[in-house]
Amino acid sequence: MVKAKNIPAIAGGKPVRDSYLHFGVPDVREEDIKRVVGVLKSKWITTGPETFEFEKKLKKLCGAKYVHAVNSCTAALHLALVVSKIGPGDEVITSPMTFASAVNVIVQVRAIPVFVDVDAETGNIDVSQIEKKITRRTRAIIITHLYGRPCEMGEILKIAKKHKLVVISDAAHALGAKYHGKSVGSIGDFTAFSFYVTKNITTGEGGALTTNRQEWSDLIEIYKLHGLSRDAWKRYHEKSIKYYTLTVPGYKYNLADMNAALGNSQLERFGKMQERREAIWDIYDRSLSDLALAIPQKVDKNIVHAKHIYSILLNLDKLKVSRDKIREALALENIGTSVHFISLHLQPFYKKLLGCKPSDFPNALYLSERLISLPLSQNFSDNDVADVIAAVKKVVKYFSK
Ligand SMILES: *Cc1c(COP(=O)(O)O)cnc(C)c1O
Repeated sequence: MVKAKNIPAIAGGKPVRDSYLHFGVPDVREEDIKRVVGVLKSKWITTGPETFEFEKKLKKLCGAKYVHAVNSCTAALHLALVVSKIGPGDEVITSPMTFASAVNVIVQVRAIPVFVDVDAETGNIDVSQIEKKITRRTRAIIITHLYGRPCEMGEILKIAKKHKLVVISDAAHALGAKYHGKSVGSIGDFTAFSFYVTKNITTGEGGALTTNRQEWSDLIEIYKLHGLSRDAWKRYHEKSIKYYTLTVPGYKYNLADMNAALGNSQLERFGKMQERREAIWDIYDRSLSDLALAIPQKVDKNIVHAKHIYSILLNLDKLKVSRDKIREALALENIGTSVHFISLHLQPFYKKLLGCKPSDFPNALYLSERLISLPLSQNFSDNDVADVIAAVKKVVKYFSK
């Protein structure tokens, strides 16, 4: 007989907590609200001083020569392809274990995405499989530092140099991550960050694109705001009358000060936020090791993981039910979870475009059926963390063979 307290809510027991713990609630505090309200009262709410300060702060944090704040990570990735002139017929190597927009942007510039399978444990691109996918038409590689763990950048940069490829990092998960002493944001040709609500820091909606090359930075400056030669802040604040000149058909990708103010306020406590995330990560590591699941692989000592998503990998051979049943059971315990990601090669659009089968990328397929992202936020109390652990233990043990 299973003891009453060990019966999950899905099987008629009592849930571990009474209120629902949401996955990915933003950490917005009183000081953040004050700073945003300050912008609203200032009469200048679009791109201006808060955005410029945000760029400066990010530059310091990630060590890039040039940082451009934009209104999403998706916009940043698109700009990277536009300014490096990747277009029709070009091939771009990428991995399918990422968010849709990291690959959609390749299609949007009418280039061709070429998937490379991922490492079965980390979910990052399997560097040993990159070179066999390179052709005469390969121009770039977009990699995702999944969950905040930097990809094998040493190998990737070597391959890129040999084949003259542009290296674009999707660092939506990886603000604060480091690889062999270098910050993510300063490695390779371009790095795109996201400040969407669920990310380590948020601006509501927002992103940034970094590069170390001035010529690219100059192009980003123009393309991010319609293709105009001078931005609105400058035009409205110069005494002499000046007109903008249009040189290219650019995009509307600038970040507003309302959003940047939230980012600035969040960055003030970034160090503390990351410490708390690490502490929670360590508690999860210590508490979830004896179950029918794998916890995230440890990083080497020359790597700093940004601790964005704590993703467990279910051992389905030892479980009586599927991943989705476990997620459902956790939801009934009042624990919200997510999945990062269902591999893009399984999505109808890419299946059709590339004619791929599920078994073409076996590791991505394997992970897609087994991963669960546990909730992790710097503003979780110790009780919240204990509830997540209690729920996972109860549910996984109950459904173990
Ligand atoms: C969130 C996310 C994005 C998109 O970020 P936006 O700022 O919403 O455009 C891109 N890639 C990955 C890996 C993400 O997790």
